[in-house]
Amino acid sequence: MEPYDPQTIELKWQEAWERERAFSVPNPSSPDEMDAERTYVLEMLPYPSGELHMGHVKNYTLGDVLAHVRTRMGFRVLRPMGYDAFGLPAENAAIRESAHPRLVTERNIAAIREQMRRMGWAIDWDREVSTSDPSYYRWTQWLFLKFYEQGLAYRKEAPVNWCPNDQTVLANEQVIDGRCERCGAEVERRNLEQWFFRITAYADRLLEEMSLLESWPDYVLTMQRNWIGRSEGAEVIFRIEELETEIPVFTTRPDTLFGATFFVLSPEHPLVPELVAGTPHEEEVLAYVRRAAGRSASERADPEKEKTGVFTGAFVTNPVNEQRLPIWVADYVLMEYGTGAIMAVPAHDERDFDFARRYELAVKVVVAPGDEEFEEGTYVPHSEGERLVDSAQFSGLPAEEAKRAIVEWLEERGLGRPAVSYRLRDWLLSRQRYWGCPIPILYCDACGMVPVPEEDLPVLLPEVEEYLPKGRSPLAAAEDWVHTTCPRCGGRARRETDTMDTFVDSSWYFIRYCDAHNDQEAWNREIADYWLPVNQYIGGVEHAILHLLYARFFVKVLNDLGLLGFREPFLRLFTQGMIHYHGAKMSKTRGNVVSPDDMIERYGADAVRLYILYMGPAEDDIEWQDTGIEGMYRFLGRLWRLGVEVAERGPAEVAAGPLVRRAHAAIAKVSDDILRRFRFNTPIAAVIELVNEIYHVKDEPDRAGEVRFATETAVSLIQPYAPHLAEELWERLGRARLWETPWPEADSSLLERETFELVVQVNGRVRDKVEVPVGLSDAELVDRAKELPRVRAHLDGKEIRKEIVVPGKLVNLVV
Ligand SMILES: [Zn+2]
Ligand SMILES: [Zn+2]
Repeated sequence: MEPYDPQTIELKWQEAWERERAFSVPNPSSPDEMDAERTYVLEMLPYPSGELHMGHVKNYTLGDVLAHVRTRMGFRVLRPMGYDAFGLPAENAAIRESAHPRLVTERNIAAIREQMRRMGWAIDWDREVSTSDPSYYRWTQWLFLKFYEQGLAYRKEAPVNWCPNDQTVLANEQVIDGRCERCGAEVERRNLEQWFFRITAYADRLLEEMSLLESWPDYVLTMQRNWIGRSEGAEVIFRIEELETEIPVFTTRPDTLFGATFFVLSPEHPLVPELVAGTPHEEEVLAYVRRAAGRSASERADPEKEKTGVFTGAFVTNPVNEQRLPIWVADYVLMEYGTGAIMAVPAHDERDFDFARRYELAVKVVVAPGDEEFEEGTYVPHSEGERLVDSAQFSGLPAEEAKRAIVEWLEERGLGRPAVSYRLRDWLLSRQRYWGCPIPILYCDACGMVPVPEEDLPVLLPEVEEYLPKGRSPLAAAEDWVHTTCPRCGGRARRETDTMDTFVDSSWYFIRYCDAHNDQEAWNREIADYWLPVNQYIGGVEHAILHLLYARFFVKVLNDLGLLGFREPFLRLFTQGMIHYHGAKMSKTRGNVVSPDDMIERYGADAVRLYILYMGPAEDDIEWQDTGIEGMYRFLGRLWRLGVEVAERGPAEVAAGPLVRRAHAAIAKVSDDILRRFRFNTPIAAVIELVNEIYHVKDEPDRAGEVRFATETAVSLIQPYAPHLAEELWERLGRARLWETPWPEADSSLLERETFELVVQVNGRVRDKVEVPVGLSDAELVDRAKELPRVRAHLDGKEIRKEIVVPGKLVNLVV
């Protein structure tokens, strides 16, 4: 018998699929197609900063399995691919190689495209897009102008996060623990004119419209909620008599106003210089402000670090009692959050208390636990049932009631009002880097800021000799490009030289895929509304906040502009786990990388595809094992020999029998696991088991019909994972075009009806019951239990500390 030869088989089928454009799904051209069931399977597009790694292989194989199954179920499946080609990952790769970003990007894209074809992924290549291509970024610029027209893109001077290594501004989202997300350098603060998207105008909708999502991991929703950071409280007006100025302060605890003993301004607060001008405090305060500018935001906010500050000599008036409070400048107060000014209540706020103790400032207790004793002049944490003390007419009120009463009292006097505050800031989108989408704005001496007219788009990225970051945009060096004429007055104008954050490019690529070659408009709305929203999005956990939040914001704006008919881009989200090797995340710097190319060369793409999903539940972080992929390769060899042998025996009459029943059980399990449970490893185990059972009886002459049927079923079920081998065997079994063959359906009359009622408890209390098949493992029983909506509601995202399983009876989840 010919041995299993993946290299030959795989190239044969890849060529066949390409020749036939097997996975191209054109846009609907008839009413029938418009009505056909459709689904959009999308995986996050790669940065072409190098070649594909195993994380990509996992991501795209997951999408591939789903796309195959859905296609064979009769859906029109949109499954496109592209490249997030602008931005720091690609530019930094180019700088490392001392080559032009365009050349490096183009070369990497060619290599990635080749790898994707060699993996045999069922991609609709007719929709390929690259965000650095002028035919794409023309529309990125057009979208920017739409946002600009709506006042949703604006320019202002702002303190920004500056990465001294990448020589560019970073969004708050790109600063992790005070360091640059990309390179790890400590981030500095600078004041610069910058472009922003007004994402804060959509803060409430980004929260509320989470209800439109069908299935997102709870932790992602929680991270987004925390990032938006909505809190309810009050805006209270404090007054600086000397300057005849009012300073609004946001507080979530207006009930503690009587406990304010001092007042703190952030060193960046614009009133600081004015407040100390010409006073004996001026020199000391301004020196402090300069020192604070050199400290990172996270260092300043670190509760462990000792707090520092300086007295300004000035006072504010507390609106509730006319008390004069000393104004300090301290860098634990950040300009970005709230108004850059706080009323300090040291008795009930730990940071304020630390500060008060260090500088010997007064501490006054104003809310106290109901009946217990407390010590005057010390820190008293908030507690349940607390009531106000020492707060004039509000003393004795429960804290919640006092909040309302005090805000009402302030509001009647025009000294305050109920207010909502967000942690979310506007999205800083301008970058002083070369490799990005130029911002389509001109500056004219006579007309001021002028948007580039639509008919002049795209504003092409100029060719420059020197693209290395130098602290100002390298585009500024392209003098011929910078100097232009004003479209309004015909006078002299110069171009904006900043480029856009690459997250702008990736906030709408999934819309462009729907209508990738449209050169009249960014997309046709009818076509976009036909395919979108995305039914299943798959990607890495690292994008839980940034990309997903920005894409949601874009779609909401585009919906408001009437350009799209839906409000959320991704109905279902799946975040895959990482792949570890030798105990750590695979990374080039650690030298623990398994290259997809090497694995394909040794075992073939089918074995790699199969193993990457067999390693464990797709959401878990999983350790790559060299023996594991060998095992998968051996299984494929075993299936190959079975298929070839059965094919050579020729057709056989299908007879009923235990093996046919087993095959139907496998169909039921594989379909249910993939489609309903989003489990990709257990279907492989089910097919392996089926193949083993076929081997036990394959030589019994009176069971040829059963063996034939079960073998065909095994081949059909493994097709989404190992499409090349499956296609080859299918052909040898006398059939054709398995990729288009309807997905098998389990005959329910043949399924063994052996089930029992599983009782599911949370913390020992019964929360639900569910009918499950006999013979599931403990882990599978726990999985079934955790999936139940009523159980999920009781778990409420809490960590499960213990899983108690009584097989055949109950699961108790302890949180
Ligand atoms: Zn950096
Ligand atoms: Zn002009």
